[in-house]
Amino acid sequence: MQYNRYNISIFMEKKQENTKMEKLISLCKRRGFIFQSAEVYGGLQGFWDYGPLGVELKNNIKKVWWKKFVQQRDDVVGLDSSIITNSTVWKNSGHVQGFSDKLVECKKCHQRFKEADFSNEPGFLKCPYCQSDDLTKPKDFNTMFKTFVGPTEDTASTAYLRPETAQNIFVQFDNIRQSMRKKVPFGIAQIGKAFRNEITPGNFIFRSREFEQMELEFFVNPKDDKKYFKEFVDASYNFFIDLGIKKENIRKYEQKGKELAHYSKETIDLEYNFPFDKGFAELMGIANRTDYDLKAHGITYKDDVDKEEFVPYVIEPSAGVDRAMLAFLLDAYEEIDGGRSTTTESNKEKEMVLKLHKDLAPYKVAILPLSKKEEVSGSAKDLYKELQKYWMVAYDDASSIGRRYRRQDEIGTPYCVTYDFDSNDDKKVTVRDRDTMEQERISVDELVNYLKHKLDS
Ligand code: ATP
Repeated sequence: MQYNRYNISIFMEKKQENTKMEKLISLCKRRGFIFQSAEVYGGLQGFWDYGPLGVELKNNIKKVWWKKFVQQRDDVVGLDSSIITNSTVWKNSGHVQGFSDKLVECKKCHQRFKEADFSNEPGFLKCPYCQSDDLTKPKDFNTMFKTFVGPTEDTASTAYLRPETAQNIFVQFDNIRQSMRKKVPFGIAQIGKAFRNEITPGNFIFRSREFEQMELEFFVNPKDDKKYFKEFVDASYNFFIDLGIKKENIRKYEQKGKELAHYSKETIDLEYNFPFDKGFAELMGIANRTDYDLKAHGITYKDDVDKEEFVPYVIEPSAGVDRAMLAFLLDAYEEIDGGRSTTTESNKEKEMVLKLHKDLAPYKVAILPLSKKEEVSGSAKDLYKELQKYWMVAYDDASSIGRRYRRQDEIGTPYCVTYDFDSNDDKKVTVRDRDTMEQERISVDELVNYLKHKLDS
């Protein structure tokens, strides 16, 4: 069978041979990161709900991205546009005519699948489910979700759920430029939901039908496109490295020939070594979209100072929040045979540690009182309330301290603070580091500053 680099979902799900993914999926459910949407009704393929820890992790990813690409740049501003908009946007952008995948149906088992997932060369395609080569001819399947606006359901009221956040940025180019007095080069960033009726959603949250994107459209003079393209490839790569993705697990892949989208002069994908199929698969893409989009919407630009008129080129780093989250979780996941417990209790179980970057960890600190007695738990709760002013903090007083450490390690909490019987006398607590497991005795008065130094630096 022929494979290409996007050949992913079905085999893993059918053969269930991918243990790391299975373990991670199970951890995500057990510890409240990700649930199947409407699981009580059997779920809905391609849709996921992010639980209490998942929403924290997702928000943290978005917060760090926004800080790097908007807050800390004086040439980028933000936007939060509507999900449904005037359908002409999608007609002029080319999505209504061309946002489609090639769909193939097996005449023997009647399963449907995306041609691109299973073939590099036409003529070598076999059904991935039953191996039959008796297949229908590939036909275009538009992956935009349709709906109707208003009480009538006809062509005039047809609308689409946006399949990307980018187009709304292009059509607001003039409003944003004028209201913010921006001159090219400058960028507009947006984080938000996108919807695609994927033929074969799968591999957990890698490919879903509802997902979130973090996109930046950076408008440049065409003569400067190469410089900015490189800048955003490097900045995007460093975003993942700085958040702890191991260098051996991420690479740049330059799209060639037919791989390039019709609007793109140059595209580099950042690929992550996912533990399914052939490994490396698209995490995000950085594209030089040329003047395709602004031209499509009839937008031009005239520089006030040198009076030069041109249609800006667009450099677009486009990342999936959910795919980034999957990569961060996989990269952080470690299993230690026989355990690494520092407590006296013998522990021969396998331990799981999520070595998430401190900026991403759902809880930054956990307060673990060594007793439920009021003299200990009362003060521990006061400390908990104090730390909640600054961070998301967990409070856990159930079961042995060893088990409580392991519970926090499993969800990636960087620091555990134990409040013990001596704490009331010496006004000190023990702070334990998730990764080194080193323990330090810190004065209660100093705790906030100590943690600020560790967490906010
Ligand atoms: P793919 O080739 O994997 O379908 P794409 O090239 O169509 O992705 P883009 O249109 O470039 O993706 O979207 C930018 C980013 O949005 C992707 O790199 C990915 O991180 C994310 N993304 C796209 N489609 C999905 C999806 N169905 N589920 C989750 N994330 C997605």
